[in-house]
Amino acid sequence: MSVGEFDLIYRYFDRPVNDPDVVLGIGDDAAVLSLQGRAVVAVDTLVAGVHFHDTIPPDALGHRALAVNLSDLAAMGATPRWYTLALTLPKADEQWVSEFARGMFALAERYGATLVGGDLTRGPLAVTVQVVGTAGERWLTRGGGHAGDDVYVTGTLGDGAAGIALVNERADALGAEAAALKERFLRPTPRVEAGLALAGVASAAIDVSDGLLADLGHICEESGCGAVVDVEHVPLSAELLAVFPPQVALAYALGGGDDYELCFTASPANAERVESALAACGTRARRIGRLVEGRDVVCRRDGEPFEPPARGYAHF
Ligand code: ADP
Ligand code: MG
Repeated sequence: MSVGEFDLIYRYFDRPVNDPDVVLGIGDDAAVLSLQGRAVVAVDTLVAGVHFHDTIPPDALGHRALAVNLSDLAAMGATPRWYTLALTLPKADEQWVSEFARGMFALAERYGATLVGGDLTRGPLAVTVQVVGTAGERWLTRGGGHAGDDVYVTGTLGDGAAGIALVNERADALGAEAAALKERFLRPTPRVEAGLALAGVASAAIDVSDGLLADLGHICEESGCGAVVDVEHVPLSAELLAVFPPQVALAYALGGGDDYELCFTASPANAERVESALAACGTRARRIGRLVEGRDVVCRRDGEPFEPPARGYAHF
């Protein structure tokens, strides 16, 4: 980027660091970090027109770009530590950058994550965040499930996808429930505490970014089994049910993405440990089905076969 590249970086992104493990942060050719245990690394890109409308408030984009990455660490049962930010901007708009940084840092502070570097280029609006977390002896993967394990989800599903449908509506034109759905899309809460609590308790986990059935399908692929989902147990929020008819709400919950809840599995013998781990971090979860022999994810409603209206999002 031409004029102002370093001004933007040092004015808006280079903040005092109080993590002693950051040996060298922003300002050199690379960051130097000191770590014990294992590094758990994830990266996600958000592209204007693909992942968000360019009308998105910049502070929400800053929040979201970090949140989707923290959600990946949550699904691994890792502790967020550091992140880098690659920002591609059509122009050097200081107001925009300042709002973006405010949203991003507010979320980072909640989880003690430190920005340690990045990149700034001119081009169509896109944001890439890379996170580094740490894990000790136990972490979560998609591949640890076994036939017979219970399948759970945290929180409620469908709100994020419903929020996308409302994202271009003006806030003052929306009722309180619709505004809450839109907010869930704009500023999702990564389930970091739940992921940490479930490490060593759950057998497999994934964050619900592409839709429950698609993401549970990834657990099944990696775990070498199938799953049965009892759709009447899939948790739906009061807000979702207030704004959309039940069939639409269920379609969002099963096939819409962007919830950033955790879908995880655990042996029935661990049911009490699951409950107490989640109670300790104030996260609700509901049992929605079971892993089975085979390889398909099938749905039932009240015990009868049920064909889901949509299964999830795929880029290609
Ligand atoms: P290089 O040319 O060596 O890649 P840059 O000029 O891209 O270095 O960046 C200079 C310093 O500023 C580096 O330490 C880099 O990590 C940091 N930096 C660049 N862009 C950002 C950003 N958007 N957020 C945080 N740090 C950034
Ligand atoms: Mg660079």
